Amino acid sequence: MATKPKMKLKKGDHVQVIQGKDIGKRGEIARVIPERNKVIVESSEGINVAKKHQKPTKATMQGGIQDKAMPIHVSNLMLVCGKDGPVKVGYRIDPNGEKHRVCRKCGAEL
Ligand SMILES: [Zn+2]
Repeated sequence: MATKPKMKLKKGDHVQVIQGKDIGKRGEIARVIPERNKVIVESSEGINVAKKHQKPTKATMQGGIQDKAMPIHVSNLMLVCGKDGPVKVGYRIDPNGEKHRVCRKCGAEL
């Protein structure tokens, strides 16, 4: 049995691309795929977008090209701290034993 994948990222996280063709772009995680260690990032800049050609339909009478965000591997992403930008993620255990995700630079909860 494979070990259960650990995902540091979750839906709604703000991330920046640190590798590949979309390097430097930022977006928000729309969906996580833990078993593949991938996420889908929604961004106005378009992150890992594939062009989908659509055939004309009777309703619209026109075809076209639609952008579709494809899953991107989490190793290509970094979590964005509102103060520091892309940062490494640390963890802090509070007195109740709960784990919190924090910025490794400023310590803010992410
Ligand atoms: Zn920070």
